[in-house]
Amino acid sequence: MPLTAFSTSQPGERDVDQVLARASAQFGQPYSSVDAIPEAWRAFLRTDLQCPGCFATGAEVVRGSVISKTGKSKRQSFFRFTTPGHNPYCEFDSDEAANFTPENLVSFGESRSNLTRVVRDLVCTGIDQGVFSQVTIRDMREWFYKKRVSSLFEVTLDPRWFSWIEGLRRARHAATGSLPDGVLLTQDIASLPEFDWRAEAARRVLDQHPEIKGILEIVAGQRLWFSGESASQLESLARRSRGRMVFDPNTLRIEYGKTVALAQFIARNHAPLKAEKARSLASVSVLAFSALLLFVSGWDTTKAITSFIKIVSALGHADPELGNVMGLNPFHNYETWNTMKRIQDLQLEVPDNSDIKAERVAMEVALRAQFGAPPMPA
Ligand SMILES: [Zn+2]
Repeated sequence: MPLTAFSTSQPGERDVDQVLARASAQFGQPYSSVDAIPEAWRAFLRTDLQCPGCFATGAEVVRGSVISKTGKSKRQSFFRFTTPGHNPYCEFDSDEAANFTPENLVSFGESRSNLTRVVRDLVCTGIDQGVFSQVTIRDMREWFYKKRVSSLFEVTLDPRWFSWIEGLRRARHAATGSLPDGVLLTQDIASLPEFDWRAEAARRVLDQHPEIKGILEIVAGQRLWFSGESASQLESLARRSRGRMVFDPNTLRIEYGKTVALAQFIARNHAPLKAEKARSLASVSVLAFSALLLFVSGWDTTKAITSFIKIVSALGHADPELGNVMGLNPFHNYETWNTMKRIQDLQLEVPDNSDIKAERVAMEVALRAQFGAPPMPA
């Protein structure tokens, strides 16, 4: 349930207070509170306003909650779209989305840090100079919404995939230093005081599962290795989204590459952003601004840079209010989703009841017993 909505009669993205102030001027009636909106205004807003995520109409105004002590709104008033409701896969279509900004939307009006202020100035000047407008920013969101809805895939990846592959890797690693292939373990060899029972057990378990070598080669060929942290991130994403239809990031592969390259160029060639160093490179607002420049340039990077130069040369004169608009970072979590999709496309089935580590331990216990070696250290 979004904080802002897009007015089609007076094109622009506005929050509840701004919308009601405009309605008040339009209907020539004063406006006292969100609780006392005349029915004529309500009827008008239902047809005029669009959801910023899916462009559905039928807006209703919902009052924010108020903290009594300070009198300040704890929760800002927002819009609800229940009749006829959001279009499918709208990010605002959940209770969770009440009064919250979906992660791929970027508030260009935000000015809490140096970096967001710099981007806000660029956006305001861009609007002031006619490089883009609130309407093109809205059109970009609609473009993305349509792309998304037309390229959904179902998440079927088994979340156990990551620990399964990690287990196979460990088993292979454990076999390092085992007897070379073709050499039989004899009592003489077993009597070596430092004989590595763990490695020998791992080698035998791998021999019993010849498919493991091929699986690890496929994964290595696709460069799908992860640090523990990214593996657990991916695993939890797979768990949370299993069975859901999600956007296939591959659809925007070309646009993503261009946006990242332009964002890096801008972050390194615009003095106020350069001063922010690494923050600029990682910033979603710089990415969103770059994506916007490319969108209005038909994804032509040369044109986008020309527009950027035009904006930079005119900085410092635009009204900061112009930037009160929701931008879009179509590439939120792009790499993560892309990796998920690539793994899923490999169609490597996680076997049930496979615990390679338990097999190795059991093998080591058995081998030690067979050759009269001391039992496994605890
Ligand atoms: Zn919606």
